Amino acid sequence: HADIAMYQAKASGRDNAQWFETRMVEDTNDRIALSAALRQALGRGEVSVVYQPQVDLESGEVVGFEALARWTSPEHGSVAPDLFIPVAEDGGMIIQLGEWVLRTACADVAALSAAVGRPLRLAVNVSPRQLRGKQWLDSVTAALRDSGLDPASLEVEITEGLLIADVGDAVAILSAVRELGVSVVVDDFGQGYSSLAYLTRFPIDKIKIDRSFVEEITDDGDRAAIVDAIIVMAHALGMKVLAEGVETAEQESYLTARGCDEVQGFRYGRGMPKDQVLTALPRIAPCPSPSHVTTSPTW
Ligand code: C2E
Ligand code: MG
Ligand code: MG
Ligand code: MG
Repeated sequence: HADIAMYQAKASGRDNAQWFETRMVEDTNDRIALSAALRQALGRGEVSVVYQPQVDLESGEVVGFEALARWTSPEHGSVAPDLFIPVAEDGGMIIQLGEWVLRTACADVAALSAAVGRPLRLAVNVSPRQLRGKQWLDSVTAALRDSGLDPASLEVEITEGLLIADVGDAVAILSAVRELGVSVVVDDFGQGYSSLAYLTRFPIDKIKIDRSFVEEITDDGDRAAIVDAIIVMAHALGMKVLAEGVETAEQESYLTARGCDEVQGFRYGRGMPKDQVLTALPRIAPCPSPSHVTTSPTW
């Protein structure tokens, strides 16, 4: 029921615009309209990229950023990625959109690295559909070449679903991109799928623990146990671990104590436009742990 949906949306901190959009895309006609609008959005400059900081827990440094797509439509207002990304995936627009985000973000992070005088990493989300052909690999090569970004600074985030569904092609393409020096990261780990076998079949460098586990880390013993196990398992497999959705000091301390490598979340910053990154950098830092309390930030 609409009233209840709005009440729940408000209660969960979402604004009316998001409530409206969530209902809107359930209607097929609106989905088609949204898809058509998105098709024109790139050319009209309605799509942008924001950068969410990723922090190394040992050094306390911002080591990189995840690029997140944003779409502000004149008709639909600010459209949430959880709505327009699936629409883009269904309609095939994700190929162009993904390529544009990749090129833009590589150029932006190359410029930011030069500005701060040290290499910053860039994590880019990749949809399963982008990994079907050779086109994506070519676009990665081109984006790296044109931006001058070090391939070692680029990470591609894939989801578990891809690893389970489309085994053959994905392995070859991910292995090829890894040969360029790019890292492969599993996003939203723990959400939806339970097979762990694929972790050994795929070339994976890092696991991002899904936000839903981090959310309850300090008040749900079972969830915390899973987080502990993921960290131990990832390290045993030679992978790094990043915890997503870190919002509180308690969550951070827990993750630090368990040896989690990196964190990302509102505690350190939301996605921000490139122009805001340099001024925000000095303010972003986890609670200093004894190991780095005496060192001054290097940014
Ligand atoms: P994701 O890749 O898992 O990105 C993390 C999402 O969690 C982002 O939402 C981010 O704003 C949100 N988040 C980060 N820290 C916190 C926190 O502390 N608390 C809470 N409550 N949320 C946090 P966003 O930007 O709405 O993106 C949603 C999803 O859309 C992304 O999930 C990703 O799957 C997809 N997406 C975004 N940009 C792109 C893109 O360029 N290409 C593709 N293929 N997918 C994208
Ligand atoms: Mg991601
Ligand atoms: Mg994620
Ligand atoms: Mg997600």
